[in-house]
Amino acid sequence: MTPDRLNRFARHIVLPEVGAMGQARLATSHVVLVGMGGIGSPALQYLAGAGVGRLTLIDDDVVEASNLQRQTIYTEVDIGQSKAEAAAAWVTAFDPALVVDAHATRITRHNAAGLIAGADVVLDGCDNFATRLAVSDACVKAGVPLTSAALGRFQGQVANFAGHRDGQACYRCFVGDAFDAEDCDSCADLGVLGAMVGMVGAFGAMAAMRVLLEGVSTLGDPQWGQLHVLDGLKPSLRTMRIARDPECSGCGAGA
Ligand SMILES: [Zn+2]
Repeated sequence: MTPDRLNRFARHIVLPEVGAMGQARLATSHVVLVGMGGIGSPALQYLAGAGVGRLTLIDDDVVEASNLQRQTIYTEVDIGQSKAEAAAAWVTAFDPALVVDAHATRITRHNAAGLIAGADVVLDGCDNFATRLAVSDACVKAGVPLTSAALGRFQGQVANFAGHRDGQACYRCFVGDAFDAEDCDSCADLGVLGAMVGMVGAFGAMAAMRVLLEGVSTLGDPQWGQLHVLDGLKPSLRTMRIARDPECSGCGAGA
């Protein structure tokens, strides 16, 4: 690393849980972010801030005025623009040393394999189950770990999945097959508090970093299959283990 980069990441490097080795790993890592909304925005800010060297951003939406309450990377000038492209422009302005790819497209089971190819981890912060399941199945097939970060009103759920590894659950083991249809609830109907979704996005960024640093530094314990459930109202955090479903159609006998 150059003196400029060493200085930029000095607060990480002095942390024993990250260290110089961890920072070097982050710099050569590739994270794919699915959904550049309320979860993806802060997740991107912290992953770019952490110096993750390559970022692939996927979202087929455009920025709307009602997004600005929680989607922290966008400003009024972005309204009407592609979220993926506006987010990529944010990355380039923030740190031109990072490589960023924008895909203003919806990720589906037909194109997911190509979009996640080469990723060290996929962080899914999208807003519907059909996409989440397509992403999960593609991750299992490609052998790519998945960080899943989701929010329902004041309950956040964050977990790392490695369904491609022996004995580990995938996201589909957790939610089952019933949700392949389009999602029933949405932020527009139910409302969402900006700071709450921000907590979930930041939590997701940290979970993804745990995957990237596995085998490199002590932060690198991905806690596979442990679902962290944040209650934003109390507030409180509890953790539960997701069991592998042997009949799962994503990672098990049903695949
Ligand atoms: Zn599974």
